[in-house]
Amino acid sequence: MLNLILFGPPGSGKGTQSEKLIVKYGLKHLSTGDLLRSEIAQQTSLGLEAKNFMDKGQLVPDAVVIGMIRSALETNPDVKGFLFDGFPRTPAQAAALDELMELKGTSINTMLAMEVSEQELMIRLLKRGETSGRSDDTNEEVVKARITEYHNKTAAVADYYHQFGKVVTVKGEGSIEAIFNSLCKEIDQKI
Ligand code: AMP
Repeated sequence: MLNLILFGPPGSGKGTQSEKLIVKYGLKHLSTGDLLRSEIAQQTSLGLEAKNFMDKGQLVPDAVVIGMIRSALETNPDVKGFLFDGFPRTPAQAAALDELMELKGTSINTMLAMEVSEQELMIRLLKRGETSGRSDDTNEEVVKARITEYHNKTAAVADYYHQFGKVVTVKGEGSIEAIFNSLCKEIDQKI
């Protein structure tokens, strides 16, 4: 299997690049943000709980997202691999993912970490808010809170994978095609 993590702050382009990568490499896309928004749309109790955190730009509790990933892995037994997007976002989620992968007899191959300047992130997120219909993209305070959560809780996930030599960094600024080519170059070196 080929199991990749696409990592980076909110607005770094994970969603855009994921859509292209899953097509090229035939992977199953698992975005916890998309899964949570679908739970909210269906008004499930999980969705209602998650919404309280998402509206404030805060991370949803680990147990909630880990449970969602566990069931997504169970319902996709025969795929070529997974592309994790927006997960893991804490070292505890990363450790849980490693355990879940081990249970499947597989592991994470690589974390692709996209680097984008803070100024560019704010511009991109507020611009996305004009069209995405995502309430957490329209309010500057919420956008800032998400970036703060990233620094306080999520950046450490890169350290977690560094200890296993699994991190490659890619410049997340430039054209969508140029960034995609850089990501593919890194992936192709691993497979
Ligand atoms: P995203 O679509 O990845 O930007 O995620 C939108 C929001 O969903 C985040 O700001 C968090 O509130 C929540 N979320 C998504 N993925 C996770 C995760 N792995 N852990 C905790 N919260 C998450």
